[in-house]
Amino acid sequence: MILENDSFRHKGLRARLVKELEAKGVASAEVLEAIGKVPRHLFLDSSFVKFAYRDMAFPIGAGQTISQPSTVAQQSTLLNVKAGDRVLEVGTGSGYQAAVLCEMGINLFSIERQPDLYNKCKRLLPSLGYSRVRFYLGDGYEGLPDLAPFDGIVVTAGAAAIPQKLLLQIKIGGYMVVPVGARVQTMTRIKRISEDEFEKEAFGECAFVPMLSGVAWNK
Ligand code: SAH
Repeated sequence: MILENDSFRHKGLRARLVKELEAKGVASAEVLEAIGKVPRHLFLDSSFVKFAYRDMAFPIGAGQTISQPSTVAQQSTLLNVKAGDRVLEVGTGSGYQAAVLCEMGINLFSIERQPDLYNKCKRLLPSLGYSRVRFYLGDGYEGLPDLAPFDGIVVTAGAAAIPQKLLLQIKIGGYMVVPVGARVQTMTRIKRISEDEFEKEAFGECAFVPMLSGVAWNK
């Protein structure tokens, strides 16, 4: 994809970010390659653009944040999905995680509860050539039962407890990656073993904005 507003400087900074993530232990070649392609500076508010290729989270409006690249890399790796798989993302936010999964060849279904962010991503991603993603305005706690099961589910907001309805939307053998906890969360991965058996693993602490119920209709 050729973007007019993606300069050599941006490409250079992005290559450096990929090296930094590699040094921090990100091992998946597919994930690193995808992060090397996504123009993260186009997903940030203009005031933060010059920091776009630092491994940091930033505000994106509506009180929300764009996830840190190393967190996006961790969640994308833990999902254990491959090109052609169907994935559900809860918390579209800036759309950056969605773009990374699109670059990995994933067919993505992404839900957001904030109308402003939903509307922005619905325009932004197709304009950047990301057409493998469908956006939904809704409550991620409900998931998308009509489109389930998914090969993987990634929740990009902190859930106080494991979202029960989402468990039943994972394909048997697939994973859900979800930060679980109140103020600080544990990066948690759940594998669906059978119709009603699940296996849980923990991958360290993280800090996400909270996963909230219902759509945030503008007052
Ligand atoms: N994946 C995003 C991270 C955004 S932060 C990115 O790459 O930028 C988390 C997002 O989850 C916020 O936009 C927030 O509004 C959204 N969110 C929180 N609870 C939700 C819910 N129940 N359903 C859908 N989205 C939710």
